[in-house]
Amino acid sequence: MQTLDTEIAEKIISKKIEKKEAMRIFDGLSETEKQQLISQIKSLTGITDVTNGNFSSSKRLKPLDQRDLEDHHREFIQKLTEKYEKFVPKSKANVPKHHFHFVDQRRNFHLIKEIKQLHFQVTYEKAEGAYVYDIDGNKYIDISGDMGVNIFGHKAPMIVDAVKAALDRGIPLAGYSETIHNATQIISELTGHDRVLYTQSGTEAVMVATRIARAATNRKKIALFEGAYHGLSDVVMAMRDMQGNSLAAGPGMLQEFADQIIVLKYGDEESLDIIEARADEIAGVLVEPVQSRHIYNKPVEFLKELRNITIEKDIPLIFDEMITGFRVSPKGAQGIFNITPDISTYGKIPGGGLPTGLVAGSQKYMDLIDGGTWEFNDDSMPKSKRVGMGGTHSQNPLKVASSYATMKEIKKRLEKRDNCNYYSHTCECLYCKLNTRTMRMVEELNQYFVEHNLPITIDFFGSLFRFRYIDSYWGITEALMFILMRMNGVETNIQGNCFLTTAHTDEDIRNVINAVKKSLQTLMDEGFFYEAPVEAKKEEAVFVETPKPVENKSISKIDQTTDSQMQKLKDLLVRDLKRFNQ
Ligand code: PMP
Repeated sequence: MQTLDTEIAEKIISKKIEKKEAMRIFDGLSETEKQQLISQIKSLTGITDVTNGNFSSSKRLKPLDQRDLEDHHREFIQKLTEKYEKFVPKSKANVPKHHFHFVDQRRNFHLIKEIKQLHFQVTYEKAEGAYVYDIDGNKYIDISGDMGVNIFGHKAPMIVDAVKAALDRGIPLAGYSETIHNATQIISELTGHDRVLYTQSGTEAVMVATRIARAATNRKKIALFEGAYHGLSDVVMAMRDMQGNSLAAGPGMLQEFADQIIVLKYGDEESLDIIEARADEIAGVLVEPVQSRHIYNKPVEFLKELRNITIEKDIPLIFDEMITGFRVSPKGAQGIFNITPDISTYGKIPGGGLPTGLVAGSQKYMDLIDGGTWEFNDDSMPKSKRVGMGGTHSQNPLKVASSYATMKEIKKRLEKRDNCNYYSHTCECLYCKLNTRTMRMVEELNQYFVEHNLPITIDFFGSLFRFRYIDSYWGITEALMFILMRMNGVETNIQGNCFLTTAHTDEDIRNVINAVKKSLQTLMDEGFFYEAPVEAKKEEAVFVETPKPVENKSISKIDQTTDSQMQKLKDLLVRDLKRFNQ
């Protein structure tokens, strides 16, 4: 059931009510409701009290590019390299030793020649709770979130126990266990989808979903959106050129595959027109509703229109909620936006740390996997045609055990729901608690970036968050920031997505905040940010706000809504509502 604030938030964001009307409604709410409404708007738009990318002064700092390094920067890099070598000597020694036989593409992500000596993954020894430990004896607060897999942190006892017990029972792969029956039932309950299929990976789940769509419609093309990632399969990997044509995404990928993909602009009305116009060719529309690489973009209205068009044209709508599923709400973004796709693909969290993907969807589509259900003692038989499907380890009992343990824990932690919108400050459920804690951390850091005119912002959705350098590409300053963060005790993900888990304490979060500030302070002191005049856009100037300095705000302090905070929150509402949709 939608809560009051969800409804109002959606109306405000979709501009269905006027500013004045919004304020009238806002004034009529209780303090708790006001706070919930604000949280809801923030969560749906990603805009926090400190507006992303707006700066309080006419000067804003710019990050230094490696082409502009001067001698003193090189000296700093040299000293840092020496320090880093002492910090992680064993990890570093592993690089030349194992570079040849161990192939991994991540090793070369964002590799910058000038800091090559600093660019390597540390070798982990173990992980527990909110921490990872490397072989050099360093302990880090882990905000990498294992690419979004762990929501309860490392070695969550109920998952460890379940996997150990499964291991003791052996690993039979051909038949079913009681656990898989229970697991699929609970997943169906949590996601609201009729039927559930386990796959070995997220990539496979997406492949299967598109195959179902093609089988159901007898059409060929898969429409998807620029900026999304749907796994490794050629079926869903293509680029879009300036004219809107699909191009093979890289070496080894065929143009013939790309020709079957229509790559559209995300959130753009024109894309809806194209889908309508080409409906006869489109087998399915595949969407990552909140793209993990562009978290700030949450085009709720666009998605609603897309839902209407796909129903009208009988095109299966597939939501790929690999990262957002069970992360922002049990259903994922669809649970926050109140949009029900025909098929959803999930993965990561429901594997409980072991490899999995899930395809969940309405009976109409999922029956295309197994032909549908039938009864004993009558002449019923599977009715539907069936697509090709396999996967030796799709139902691996270890994975299913960890999956079931994770699902049970999520269900348990949803029991204490009270006026829940997944971002409520008063609700005690897992998501409200984790999402609001993430939001507060992001707010404090965004406030800090604005105060220091740093061209950085953090975008967030639930407990997923991502640092974004505004107006700049991934350069040396950003790369150094993550090295410094590591030296300051925080492990991030080189691919960009960061996560909080329920294992992170307030103290951990405080330490993450401090590590970010300390790392950036070093870079400011060492001249890696320089002053550049801002060419204020007319439109932007309307929204510039002057944030007041915040001194040593602790997480618990931010928790309380003071009058001035409430005023600030109120201000958020009266600001031009146009912004909310950007
Ligand atoms: N879809 C999305 C949205 C993803 O983020 C990912 C992986 N990060 C995948 C699909 C592919 O999942 P996997 O890596 O398990 O194959």
